[in-house]
Amino acid sequence: AVPQVVVVGRPNVGKSSLFNWLARRRLAIVDDHEGVTRDRLVTLVEHEERFFELVDTGGMGVVDVDDLTADVRHQIDVAIQSADVIVFVVDIRTGVMPLDEEVGERLRSLDVPVILVANKADNETLDERADEFYKLGRGRLVCVSTQQNRNRDDLLELIIDRL
Ligand code: GDP
Ligand code: MG
Repeated sequence: AVPQVVVVGRPNVGKSSLFNWLARRRLAIVDDHEGVTRDRLVTLVEHEERFFELVDTGGMGVVDVDDLTADVRHQIDVAIQSADVIVFVVDIRTGVMPLDEEVGERLRSLDVPVILVANKADNETLDERADEFYKLGRGRLVCVSTQQNRNRDDLLELIIDRL
């Protein structure tokens, strides 16, 4: 089976942007899971002749969109069920938020490699803010900007290394 890489993180950190940025080609749209339709977006990603499926669940399949923790819980359930690698996205501009800490807490006990992605690092000066994210837990950290196309290959290499 193709390895699965699941994107998690609180709303607005740029999970969907990251998904689109890493995707060369959208393969599948949807997977029904436990009665929830439009549960997740899946795309095949290729990097240096290695392949993985990237999964974005954020904001999908959750009835009450205001219930942010339910959304995050759902993402983590999907990650627990299917992830070979978890990509945990945070926003370098806002810094660590309480919901980031909650996500970090839930991921800490899992036996799956986690890559921490500090998104919205649109320039090198913003990279300097990355240190505070190390407290969110284990794993490697990479600063990226989906908007400015920064460090895409670095992130892909980190993912491939852990598959
Ligand atoms: P999601 O809720 O985690 O899926 O986040 P989205 O992908 O919908 O993005 C949330 C907001 O962050 C949008 O307004 C994006 O345009 C913005 N965003 C995403 N990536 C970047 C980035 O690299 N730099 C900046 N400055 N904004 C970004
Ligand atoms: Mg989204």
